[in-house]
Amino acid sequence: MPVQKGLKATITKVVDLTPTVRELFFKPEKDFEFKAGQFIMLDIPHEGKIVQRAYSVASGDKGKSEFILVIKCYEHGVASRWVPTLKGGETVTFSGPFGKFLFKEPPSQQVVFVCTSTGLAPLYSMLVSQGVNHKNVDYKLYMGVWNEREVFYSRELEEAKKLVPNLQVHFVLDTASPEWKGLTGRVTQPISELDLTSKSTQFYICGNPAMIKSVRELLNSKNFPAAQVHTESYG
Ligand SMILES: Cc1cc2nc3c(=O)[nH]c(=O)nc-3n(C[C@H](O)[C@H](O)[C@H](O)COP(=O)(O)OP(=O)(O)OC[C@H]3O[C@@H](n4cnc5c(N)ncnc54)[C@H](O)[C@@H]3O)c2cc1C
Repeated sequence: MPVQKGLKATITKVVDLTPTVRELFFKPEKDFEFKAGQFIMLDIPHEGKIVQRAYSVASGDKGKSEFILVIKCYEHGVASRWVPTLKGGETVTFSGPFGKFLFKEPPSQQVVFVCTSTGLAPLYSMLVSQGVNHKNVDYKLYMGVWNEREVFYSRELEEAKKLVPNLQVHFVLDTASPEWKGLTGRVTQPISELDLTSKSTQFYICGNPAMIKSVRELLNSKNFPAAQVHTESYG
């Protein structure tokens, strides 16, 4: 799909998913086509100018008349301070689609998705757009977040399990309360325990560059083929 510039969209809904992550629903002025895994460049007003920031589309690629972004807001940062001001009803401009972080068809027997926080966006889009067409694949998702309050899309991922029964979802918390029964620490730990030899496997990794580097190093140390590792860095 060719990149288009100066596209307009209305923000129809804003949802606070966590204390730092907002979900924004966009209705483009004309149908917007993209492939799961791709991103847009969103125009953000800043001190009388426009700056652009990249955001992966979080929704499935069949819906052309609406798309969703999930955006993490850091304490400082231009977009991070603008996103919390949105209420819905605003008109924004953007360009896209961009990117080659795409789901490879046909998938291998095991597909491992690894992300930190909003790095989930393109992976979730891949899962609901193409992953659902391959019900026999063993999908595993490892999503690193700071704490329980930063977990999001657990309901959406439970819904996805109805379509892809072999989907396993693991939230991996930096810091957890004593009640937390799931994984803690770094995503590299559970990944180091995966069976990567008896099944053909592909990795899709997205988010924090330090996490991506660590997972790549781990996979290299296991002589896992680099061609089977696909990444999108947010840094
Ligand atoms: C291809 C691509 C797709 C992306 N998709 C998404 C997405 O779907 N959702 C999403 O939330 N982000 C995504 N990003 C990141 C996004 O483009 C911005 O970099 C991010 O929103 C920060 O922008 P900002 O204007 O708030 O910060 P900037 O003004 O660019 O940065 C200024 C300061 O903000 C803080 N900051 C910025 N980023 C971080 C960070 N990662 N960790 C800690 N502090 C930080 C730091 O204090 C930094 O010095 C994507 C990036 C790329 C390259």
